[in-house]
Amino acid sequence: MKNYVVFNEADFKKRVEICISLLEVDFGLCNMDKVKIDISNRMTRGFGYWMYKVRDREAYKTIKLQFSSRLLDGRFYIKNVDEIILHEVIHYLLFEKTRINHHHDKVFHKYCEKYGTNGNGEIDCKLTELGEKIKKQEQEKRSEKSNHIREPKYNIICEECGHTYTRTRKCKLVDHPNNFKCFCGGSLYVVKNN
Ligand SMILES: [Zn+2]
Ligand SMILES: [Zn+2]
Repeated sequence: MKNYVVFNEADFKKRVEICISLLEVDFGLCNMDKVKIDISNRMTRGFGYWMYKVRDREAYKTIKLQFSSRLLDGRFYIKNVDEIILHEVIHYLLFEKTRINHHHDKVFHKYCEKYGTNGNGEIDCKLTELGEKIKKQEQEKRSEKSNHIREPKYNIICEECGHTYTRTRKCKLVDHPNNFKCFCGGSLYVVKNN
């Protein structure tokens, strides 16, 4: 048996829904068809996120559950992917049930323990064999990209502190440096790079 799964979006969403229904015993299915599940390509720091609206500094409404697209491509073991889903789903369901954002408190930890996930969100995602390949490809792409980053065309330098601002194209700052000041209050002048 493979220990990882490559999901399409629909299958991944189904997996989240399955996790939600697994928790039915404790939370009921009150909001199951209400929650929006979102897959994000841009989510490069975390893996999962229960997104809510805030009023008077407190969560009062769930907006959606968001997951990084990196959970879909098979780079992580399915066990860890499930742990991440469960962690976020428990945030969501616990809030819907109690109307309180429990963050990572004792109550939250209790449910995380029961359902076999980490209550601090510290899930150690090791790469699968496929994940190692994906990581290599990403690194190659990144280094290709960084070779293409253009040198800034203009340096805007502060007469006082020497701080240098850079611009890759013409703009107000480049055309009229006298209309601007450095953050230190100093005057600016422009040097064009060739
Ligand atoms: Zn959390
Ligand atoms: Zn300055």
